[in-house]
Amino acid sequence: MCSGRVDLAFVLRAFSNGLDGVFIGACHLNECNYITHGNYHAQNMVLLCKRLLEYIGINPERLRMRYMSGAESNLFVEHINSFTKKIRELGPLGKAEGIDEAKMKTSLAEVTRLIPYIKVAMNEKLGKRLENPEEYENYFTREEIERLFKELPSYWIDPTKCQACMTCARRCPVEAIDSKKNMVHIINQDKCIKCGTCLEACPPRFGAVTKIVGQQVPPPVPEDQRTIVRKGKEKEVA
Ligand code: SF4
Ligand code: SF4
Repeated sequence: MCSGRVDLAFVLRAFSNGLDGVFIGACHLNECNYITHGNYHAQNMVLLCKRLLEYIGINPERLRMRYMSGAESNLFVEHINSFTKKIRELGPLGKAEGIDEAKMKTSLAEVTRLIPYIKVAMNEKLGKRLENPEEYENYFTREEIERLFKELPSYWIDPTKCQACMTCARRCPVEAIDSKKNMVHIINQDKCIKCGTCLEACPPRFGAVTKIVGQQVPPPVPEDQRTIVRKGKEKEVA
């Protein structure tokens, strides 16, 4: 598999399944067979993932990426031996970090759920080509990751504006919107992955979806009060 195809989700899943370390072998930079230069994308993904691991208390040295060509089997062996040695020194995942296994799995699941949000927020940086290895260390910073989670948005549908047109529900990638005909739509906050698609999808003439940062999301309208009663061109929530 091209290193550019290695997604954040693959790495997090590997740790969630209990692997002590993840090694990604990629072609040398600027030697990609494709115009996409996927190894640059992989490199930025790894730099970001290391910070995310650090954020949830996992030693970022458990993830490593190295470059080699198909003809450099000696280099491959060297890298694998060196990484295996490092992982043995670090010890078992979680235990070495002093994190309870259940808590670690919950944290990994939460970060995995938020991957679409993280990718959108970091989109520009993820797409850049870093030519100088000296840029790697501080390309993504701890403060940036902390801010990312602190400023985690929520999306909410204003029941006084929703026209039950169902557009948002059709576009939501994870079916997080409770959608019924002629009923005010409601976002299930536990399922929502913060992608912001519903905000973009809701027709401007309705403008019913709001992005909320740093505040509590209002409670959902009770089921028996969600019917939209239309009177001519006007509507109200029953
Ligand atoms: S932000 Fe909107 S579209 Fe995206 S997952 Fe949440 S409810 Fe669905
Ligand atoms: S797109 Fe807007 S108006 Fe239509 S159902 Fe969703 S929130 Fe309501």
